[in-house]
Amino acid sequence: MEIIYKENAILKMSPNNRPIKKVNPGTEVVFETYDCFSNQIKREDQPFSSVGWDKINPATGPLFIEGAEPGDILKVEIIDIKIDSKGVMTTAPKHGVLGDIVTGETTKVIPIQEGKAIFNDKIHIPIKPMIGVIGTAPAREEIPTGTPGAHGGNMDCKKIIKGSCLYLPVNVPGALLSMGDLHAVMADGEIVICGLEIPGEVTVKVDVIKGESLPLPMLVSEDRLITIASAETLDEAAKQATVNMHQFLVEQLGLPIDEAGMLLSLVGDLRICQVVDPLMTARMELPQWILDQYDYQVK
Ligand code: CA
Ligand code: CA
Repeated sequence: MEIIYKENAILKMSPNNRPIKKVNPGTEVVFETYDCFSNQIKREDQPFSSVGWDKINPATGPLFIEGAEPGDILKVEIIDIKIDSKGVMTTAPKHGVLGDIVTGETTKVIPIQEGKAIFNDKIHIPIKPMIGVIGTAPAREEIPTGTPGAHGGNMDCKKIIKGSCLYLPVNVPGALLSMGDLHAVMADGEIVICGLEIPGEVTVKVDVIKGESLPLPMLVSEDRLITIASAETLDEAAKQATVNMHQFLVEQLGLPIDEAGMLLSLVGDLRICQVVDPLMTARMELPQWILDQYDYQVK
């Protein structure tokens, strides 16, 4: 098994990053990941601001996939997500939806026991581990790992879970895949600026798809096909995620333009991924059974 250790942490997704490892398509690779604080917060007396910005949102990588060329699609199957036995959360004034309301920098260490996050005596939350940051290198610019975009990045989409399959653009030779920022559990919105932040390791299988055009990033998760988009405002992100799914219905399933819109208005769920990162992220979810009716399978 190929492993990339967490010490290979980057803070920017960039065409200039040196690949840590090169693999052929079809290979399974384990990415060991720090939590979003570079594992710096261990106790509840350590506030958010004790972690320098140079330690926030590291991603492990990048991985070079042989044969991946600009214009191809990188297929990333999430085979498994293993997480540590405890995670942390923080609040920070002026950050997040409740930035004007939270009383200060509060840190909470939350143990995981028997598949549940022990929030307090009464509330034990079933975990659903997910990947917050996962992306490829942009073509020319360098994008901080804390920012989402067309390349993926800090999308904080709670549907990127074990068993899901993520499709990302290949912008540079080798794609340069990296990931981090696991959450034991997170709700849509991530409103207080974090999920249950936790170190862990992700096993993925990478493949290269050539000669296909899909609106990316795209995700197949549980019984849904999902388009994900990020923009400066939630309105713009919501529109782009919708336009991307509409494009898919027209181009891949051959639906007429107006009918594709009607269909999305009936069965396409428009949802929020997160509203706390430098760009906002939304997603449009299409039920799998629609694809089944057309015998369509994403490669
Ligand atoms: Ca995140
Ligand atoms: Ca996070």
